[in-house]
Amino acid sequence: MTHDELWQAVLAELELTISKANFITWFKNTGVIALEEGRAILCVPNAFTRAWLEKKYHQQIIKSLERITERPIRKLEYRIDNLKNALKTSFSPPAAPGTLERAPHFSPEPMALPTGGPSTANGSGFTVNSKYSFDNFVVGKGTELAYAAAQAVAARPGVAYNPLFIYGGVGLGKTHLLQAIGNELLKKNAQCSIMYVSAEKFSNDFISSIREGQAKDFQNRYRHIDLLLIDDIQFIAGKDRTQESFFHTFNELHQQNKQVVLTSDRPPKAIPALEDRLKSRFEWGMIADVSAPDFETRVAILEKKCAEKAFALDSKILQTVASIVQSNIRELEGALNRIMAFHQLKNIEPTIETVKALFTNSEASSTKKSVTSQQLVDVVSAMFGIPINEIMGKSREKKIAFPRQIIMFLLREELKMSYPSIGEELGGRDHTTAMHAHEKIAKELDNNLKVKQDIEAIKQRLYINAV
Ligand code: ADP
Ligand code: MG
Repeated sequence: MTHDELWQAVLAELELTISKANFITWFKNTGVIALEEGRAILCVPNAFTRAWLEKKYHQQIIKSLERITERPIRKLEYRIDNLKNALKTSFSPPAAPGTLERAPHFSPEPMALPTGGPSTANGSGFTVNSKYSFDNFVVGKGTELAYAAAQAVAARPGVAYNPLFIYGGVGLGKTHLLQAIGNELLKKNAQCSIMYVSAEKFSNDFISSIREGQAKDFQNRYRHIDLLLIDDIQFIAGKDRTQESFFHTFNELHQQNKQVVLTSDRPPKAIPALEDRLKSRFEWGMIADVSAPDFETRVAILEKKCAEKAFALDSKILQTVASIVQSNIRELEGALNRIMAFHQLKNIEPTIETVKALFTNSEASSTKKSVTSQQLVDVVSAMFGIPINEIMGKSREKKIAFPRQIIMFLLREELKMSYPSIGEELGGRDHTTAMHAHEKIAKELDNNLKVKQDIEAIKQRLYINAV
């Protein structure tokens, strides 16, 4: 096992216990550069990161290293260096092709990866990562529509659907599809000028252009391109000047029939503090959601990832993993990396037992953090775009009654609340109402795929994304 593979396995574990924002902030451009006789050296990009990791995550990193190497770590040191340089000069053997990918977790800004697959550069300076293609995307029921729409856009940019808006929970392939569009267009025309950027980066870029009196530069950069790919647009909510600037960027591109594609963790309507004129523009073209993969799709994804990594696992084991890890594809990949790392390190053949053992008592099998009823109400309200006071209120209109019933169902299933207290929680309703709601949703869950997907998405946001 190379240092890189070891570190990937550690990251896969840490990622499950740390919020995404924190994870990306603190673990980007880090890596193990030496490990000898119980002494590990971690490369970090700056003093700030070192101080933070030392203070907050030191023990967790050590524990994780010990768990994976199955050897005690007596000392963990930090060295400030550029990871690429450090890897070049360290005695870590280079990762063999076809083994673990380097840092597959930092997808929000793939161009900032320490190293990565070869990136396709273009004039704009912001690049898509060539590892994301349509070919290596496994289509399931939850992603059919988004996949087809993305392909249509790549086939006829600016014509098919403009804009294309893809939304859904974390780790479900939004960034992958977004970048696949870029890669597909570059394949057809290498001169095509493409900008892939997270909404956060767009906002930072905008602010610094104002500060430095470079507003014109900024405009040129974003408004004279063929394709604009914006990831996680919900980030600009509440940022008025960024929204204003984005509004003009959007209009300019749209008028010239230049394609815009956006992703978000929720539909336009449900993004709070987003200007109405932007909401309405986001709805001009096509809105497609991605939802959690079902069992068969999870198995198919695992098969594909195994083939990519040239790592053989028999189908019984794949099915076991697919039944343990249900929430999203990023976790599925993390689980697979962990299995690979563990078995390669110990040099043993994976069996159902060894794989199961890896996931019992681990964070992966208990992603459920404790959740409050208020959080549940908040998540459902945001997902359906129905204000809480309406959910608590009297209306029996379906679009309001349905989310209300879902809340009651989940309060029972997830929080194990009694029917009387559920009624109480939902604006003082009778316990029979709560019972009825539970029964109704339970039945729908069996018969209605959409409801099943909605509930999976809510749970996901509740346990992984939210809070
Ligand atoms: P999101 O942007 O929705 O949070 P990503 O696009 O970053 O999720 O996906 C997380 C990881 O899972 C990426 O490595 C991506 O390549 C992979 N992935 C997601 N969906 C699929 C899929 N349907 N087939 C293959 N890989 C997928
Ligand atoms: Mg993403």
